[in-house]
Amino acid sequence: MNDQAIKRVVIVGGGTAGWLSAAMLARVVNRSIEIVLVESEDIGTVGVGEATIPPLANLFIFLGIPEHEMLAAVQGTYKLGIEFVDWHRKGHRYTHAFGSPGRDLGIVPFYEYWLKEHLAGRGGSLWDYSLNDLAAQAGRFAPLKQLPNAPMAGLTHAWHFDAGLLAKFLRRVCEAQGVTRREGMVSGVNLRAEDGFIDSLTLSDGAIVEGDLFIDCSGFRGLLIEGALKAGYEDWTHVLPCDRAIAVPCASTQTLLPYTRATAHSAGWQWRIPLQHRIGNGHVFCSAFMAEDEARDILMTNLDGKALADPRTLSFTTGRRKASWVKNCVAFGLSSGFMEPLESTSIHLVQSGMTRFLKFFPDKGFSPLEIAEYNRLTAHEYELIRDFLVLHYKATQRDDSEFWNHCRTMTIPDSLAHKIDYFREHGRLIIEEADLFRDTNWAQVLIGQGIIPKSPSPLTLTVSDEKLGEYMANIRQLLSAAVAGLPDHGAYVAQNCRAK
Ligand code: FAD
Repeated sequence: MNDQAIKRVVIVGGGTAGWLSAAMLARVVNRSIEIVLVESEDIGTVGVGEATIPPLANLFIFLGIPEHEMLAAVQGTYKLGIEFVDWHRKGHRYTHAFGSPGRDLGIVPFYEYWLKEHLAGRGGSLWDYSLNDLAAQAGRFAPLKQLPNAPMAGLTHAWHFDAGLLAKFLRRVCEAQGVTRREGMVSGVNLRAEDGFIDSLTLSDGAIVEGDLFIDCSGFRGLLIEGALKAGYEDWTHVLPCDRAIAVPCASTQTLLPYTRATAHSAGWQWRIPLQHRIGNGHVFCSAFMAEDEARDILMTNLDGKALADPRTLSFTTGRRKASWVKNCVAFGLSSGFMEPLESTSIHLVQSGMTRFLKFFPDKGFSPLEIAEYNRLTAHEYELIRDFLVLHYKATQRDDSEFWNHCRTMTIPDSLAHKIDYFREHGRLIIEEADLFRDTNWAQVLIGQGIIPKSPSPLTLTVSDEKLGEYMANIRQLLSAAVAGLPDHGAYVAQNCRAK
């Protein structure tokens, strides 16, 4: 480090983004930099954000936190994918399951072979070959890296957890690593006259908190990145029109399902996230097409158990900060942007943003070139996820409401239109290196939403129908044996992930 070295980092916000950022930074700098986190109990956290995707497991390995210990602390459960109900059309369901269906043959992805069989009227559903979906629908789970006696991948999982408990758990982890928590409300952001960098924060009790680098995890308000540094916001409501969510927890059901459910309604959709002690529910909807009272009624009449609290409404504008890093301030979490939780990507964006930032860590001063590159990569990551979410709305046959008519006929980004057209024509996918979602993810959602290519890839023609039929039957047999050997998800959680 040179004389511009960062000696003190100040994080504003103690939600998932604040504590996750603090934990990652503390792990890397190992007490060589002072980390102070300011949060205000009076303001509180958004209190939702309870479904995750598989890469989060890598983060907890990096933090040195055992999975069972974390799940016990946060009333956590396992997640094998997301079930989409009534999205393609009413009465239809499919799963975006983690992991890949089947097993690729050489250089050709499995879904292309499935497609060849499907177009010939054979082979069943793509999900007959997904271990994750078969286990999810059977309500079974145990960690399984590989199938017994077969060269096939096992289960790929993520977690559901109580967001409030997670923040508390991460706070303990951070404090043990030397992070200082400061209770207080930030009432002023003081900029240096010479270059507009943030110099310090003023708290409502008059205290001044100085720092060299500021991390904005203050939630939707973006207190530093927007309030003080005016980064600007790119609004994506024209392609993702939902702008409200009503959230309510309800009592658990007897079966602990190992997946998230997303059920489409007439102007949005409802999530169902099973935890050990309750089920998290929420109705994401578009206020231009549905009044709040109606959205609340729909939510409350579609709960699986007794409501455990009053429903709470949150407003949001889908989009991203035009720059997530401005001068000596970087934003993560809701202050950096927001896309609805349809594919549980927000917490992941905190993890991936912080990982990227650590690679660009400004220990030799703030380089405009590095800041610009960080912002370019971040913007691209958001755009790729946005396209994946838009696909769920655009590729629908629903015509039973104004909302779905709007979504089905809306103009979508060229990048997505090209991907859909190409898949429909050629059965192949265009996946960018930077895309969080890979061919197995895109294929499941495209096929699940009813986009079936006209013809199989020519590469699949190298395997005879007979050989392919045998191969696929073999996979089905292996998978059903593997699922039969798994314990009930609830029983596994009760035995391994209960708070002592
Ligand atoms: P917050 O939780 O809002 O925290 C902000 C923090 O800043 C708080 O500690 C607050 O006290 C502090 N603060 C604000 N102003 C001040 C001030 N002036 N002074 C001091 N402190 C201040 N993500 C997923 O990955 N999966 C999901 O299933 C999912 N579901 C969601 C559902 C909904 C309806 C919404 C809105 C979001 C969802 N998310 C989900 C996103 C997820 O909740 C957030 O990404 C995550 O919780 C991070 O939030 P945050 O920490 O940025 O903000």
